[in-house]
Amino acid sequence: MIGKVLIANRGEIALRILRACREMGIRTVAVHSEADTEAKYVKLADESVCIGPAASGLSYLNIPAIISAAEVTDAEAIHPGYGFLSENADFAERVERSGFIFIGPRPETIRLMGDKVSAKAAMRAAQVPCVPGSEGALPEDPKEIVKLARAVGYPVIIKAAGGGGGRGMRVVHTEAALINAVAMTRAEAGAAFNNPTVYLEKYLVTPRHIEIQVLADAHSNAIWLGERDCSMQRRHQKVLEESPAPGIPRRYISRVGDRCAEACRRINYRGAGTFEFLYENNEFYFIEMNTRVQVEHPVTEETSGIDIVQAQIRIANGEKLWLKQREIETRGHSIECRINAEDPFKFTPSPGKITNWHPPGGPGIRVDSHAYSGYTVPQYYDSMIGKVIASGDTREQAIRRMRIALSEMMVDGIKTNIPLHQDLLLDERFIQGGTSIHYLEEKLAHREEVRRK
Ligand code: ADP
Repeated sequence: MIGKVLIANRGEIALRILRACREMGIRTVAVHSEADTEAKYVKLADESVCIGPAASGLSYLNIPAIISAAEVTDAEAIHPGYGFLSENADFAERVERSGFIFIGPRPETIRLMGDKVSAKAAMRAAQVPCVPGSEGALPEDPKEIVKLARAVGYPVIIKAAGGGGGRGMRVVHTEAALINAVAMTRAEAGAAFNNPTVYLEKYLVTPRHIEIQVLADAHSNAIWLGERDCSMQRRHQKVLEESPAPGIPRRYISRVGDRCAEACRRINYRGAGTFEFLYENNEFYFIEMNTRVQVEHPVTEETSGIDIVQAQIRIANGEKLWLKQREIETRGHSIECRINAEDPFKFTPSPGKITNWHPPGGPGIRVDSHAYSGYTVPQYYDSMIGKVIASGDTREQAIRRMRIALSEMMVDGIKTNIPLHQDLLLDERFIQGGTSIHYLEEKLAHREEVRRK
């Protein structure tokens, strides 16, 4: 078994990985920037190495510094978490070339799925349902582009092959706006992602975001662990996630889940991964694959009983999958609220010292957070400071438990989005379940209108 893991990340996910390692009897190395020296999880690790100043470009994205830290501490494997270098194929390659185990897919798989054009082509070949659109990159010839868009039907969306984080996309409603939109998206994509390749898709008007969690070993075995509904988004950022997805017949989920597992076998996938779909009129449309652990993985852990982070490590260790698809049984319902250090109305970041931190507890409540009383939320990174996960036998019970949990939770000294979650948990449409990816933005726009009056 892997004896020592270097955790190439920070915050709640660094702590999550640390806990998985400790339970498995694996020693840990925490790497951290100068801004995170005092973080408690850094002290919990067996060893820690400062890899650079606060700016993530000089620390958490600093590949040579991370590899050196692994060398000096004799780590055997590197867990990249999410964000930062987790989907960087060059990093995975450097890790493996330096003789360490990368806890994630093979570099070539990360590369294949990191380019949305090649990812879609691979998924089409594996018979995973995709959004109708250009089969591959858009050609240069404007006449060809017009023809393609007509065939797909307006509205269409122009997307950058190298895009990510909700950037590099433009919706086009009319033919008159098409060519200019393509040119602008190309220019932006070239500047932002160093890749001007763009493609075209049908723009789905009111879809839900449904994703499938998979696990695949290095021996061509793959399973799926149920779905997550992540439709509650603001600016393409997920705010609240749940599993199962309310109101979707199980047979639809099984069908797409089986396709995802089959796709894993075909692309030689290794590790944990997520297939993201838009769901509209009872159909799934693949949009992208995330080749790493996701922020919202706990709702799947709670409903499936499988520790996804430990599974990642066991797979990286070369173990054959110890579970068959028919042994996967999901039960109950689980909801996750992302707790952000931000103004709940204006959404401006609210870093600073947490003077009082009191996390909730009780049956069905899990809190994944690195925060504590006296912890200072640095201004340099993502504003998420933790996640509250509430589970129950039914969706109603999970919602009730989450309401109680958030009412107990105390975070003083900084602002958080807890009031936004509390509002959502009382929202009639949310309670009904099955809202589209636009629902939260519409609700916020309405709230703003009411406030202005
Ligand atoms: P990123 O990698 O930037 O997250 P995605 O391809 O996952 O890009 O798309 C992000 C979001 O953009 C989706 O969750 C959805 O809200 C919207 N989107 C992307 N493609 C479409 C589409 N074809 N129709 C409607 N909305 C889309």
